This record gives sequence, C-alpha cells and structure tokens, in this order.
Amino acid sequence: MRYADAHADTFYRIALEELDPFQREGGLHVNVPRTREVGQVLQVCSVFTPARYSGKGAEDFARRVIATLDHWAECRPDAFLRVRAAPDLSALGGEVLGLIPWLEGASPLRGELPLLDEFFALGVRGIGLVHNHANEVADGCGVPDPRRGLSEFGRELVSRMEALGMAVDCAHLPQPAFNDVMAAVMRPPCISHVGARSLVNIVRNADDAMLRAVAERGGFVGIDFYPGHVLSGAFEPGVREANVADIADHVLHAIHVCGTDHVGLGGDFDGFNDACQGLRHVGELPNLERELRSRGLSDITIEKIFSANLLRYLGEILPP
Ligand SMILES: [Zn+2]
Repeated sequence: MRYADAHADTFYRIALEELDPFQREGGLHVNVPRTREVGQVLQVCSVFTPARYSGKGAEDFARRVIATLDHWAECRPDAFLRVRAAPDLSALGGEVLGLIPWLEGASPLRGELPLLDEFFALGVRGIGLVHNHANEVADGCGVPDPRRGLSEFGRELVSRMEALGMAVDCAHLPQPAFNDVMAAVMRPPCISHVGARSLVNIVRNADDAMLRAVAERGGFVGIDFYPGHVLSGAFEPGVREANVADIADHVLHAIHVCGTDHVGLGGDFDGFNDACQGLRHVGELPNLERELRSRGLSDITIEKIFSANLLRYLGEILPP
C-alpha cells in the first residue's frame, strides 16, 4: 500500500510535548517505524494554533511548530523530505516521508497578507481558513449560529493563496462561509479532514451539497478517523465504540456523492486521544484497507483513496 494523508497534528504534538517521531511506542499515532511499515509517502502536517493564542502569540506559535518540522527534516533527510513544489511529489517513496506544513486556522496571519507571504516562504502550502473559533477570515464551526461568512480579508487571502500555489482548505467551515469560499475560488478547493453529515449530523461534518461542491471544482475531500465524526453519539453513555467499519461508511458515502476521483483520507491522527477500534494508529491502516475491500472497492479505487487522489490534487495546486 502507498499512503498519503491530508491532515495530522503530529508535528504540533512533537513541538509541544517534545516527542520523538522515531519511537514506535512513544505516544504518537504517526511515527516513522509505523509509516514505513504501511508505506506512507506523504503527511500534510497541521500547524494548529489554540484559540488562547491571539495576536502575535498565534504567529510565533505557528513559527515554532514549523521550526520543529524543519529541524527534524534537516537532521534526518533519510526519513523526511520537505515538499514545497509539485515536482517534489515524484521523489516520494521508499523510506522517505514527504512533509507539508499547513496552517489549521488562519489566526497566525492576523489579518495581514504580508504574513501569508512569509508563511509561504517557510514552506506552508495550505491553510484551513478557520478552526472552531472565529478569526479574521470567517466564523468557525464552533461558533453558535455562525453567520459571519468570508470577510474582505478572507477574499483577498483566498485569491493570494491561489496565486502562490496553496490549497484552500474548508475543514471546520460552517455553511455561510463555505458557500462564500465556493463562490470565491478559481482553483480546486479541499476539505482536508471531515466526516459525512448525512451519516453523522453535526455542523463539523460536510453535507452532500458541500461534498459535491468540492468535487465539482476538481477538489479533494479527506475523511477523518475521529470517533465523534464517524459515529453518532460517540463518547455518549451507552453508545458502542466507533470502529474501522464506521470510517469505511463515510469513505463509501463520500465516494457515492463525489465519485472515486476526489475522496481520500485525512485521518487527523495525533489530533485526538480516543481513536477508533481497529485504527488506533497509522500502523493499523491495513484494517481500513481490508474493510474497504470487503465492501467491494477495487485495487484501483483503493489506490486512489489511500494516496493517488491526494497526490493528484496537490500536483495541481502546488507551485510548478
Ligand atoms: Zn481539525
């Protein structure tokens, strides 16, 4: 199997907790021994900024996470490759894991476009426009009655990101802002990590119209592995544990809505503690592969879902 993943908080955790990505049992969902075992070739690395960091704090925190990633990539070129442009994607494979830093929430930009250029120069190649809280771009999905759509800064940001060769990521965007982004984009957008709302009805998940809108624009949708997104009432008393079959349900639903060319995986590993049964860490991905095969997916579709669709998407978006 070749695996490419659209969202993990691994380097955020490495920066914050000083964890070692080479330890198999070191507490990380995604670590080098396991990515090698499953043939992972690419990890999009979330640079998440907690809501408590505002103003310059967010910017400095994001720089710190990117510096941690740079440090590991420079020290271990045998294990990591920084992916900055489309041609880098063809160098992936073997024992080397491609890394792409990606802001989760545009808070570090503080509403200033020059900071976008600076983060681009640091290698950031995608931005999830919001997280759960509101920022300078729009309301996030955790805002009660999130009516504030894309701001004027948000429009400028989207257009500048597209010109630079960065992915516009709609994860965590509630409906009004999502619709604004769909009206604004000229290039394919993505939702890096999400579940299907028609299976688990929460604002954080994408409804069929949202999934279709991304696919119609040639974009990419990554299904995530967070129990609360793939099983209704996960963590509530009396509800069974979420498992790998629940994740497969969301993958199949997304394929049903988007077709086989626009769906992949953005596990959100290292972004939560209680993982789904059968997919506790990246080393257990073969369980998801088996499950999807048992539901009738062909070899070609499996390859698209596990790597080819994300690599194709990034090949179109990243600088040439
Ligand atoms: Zn997220």
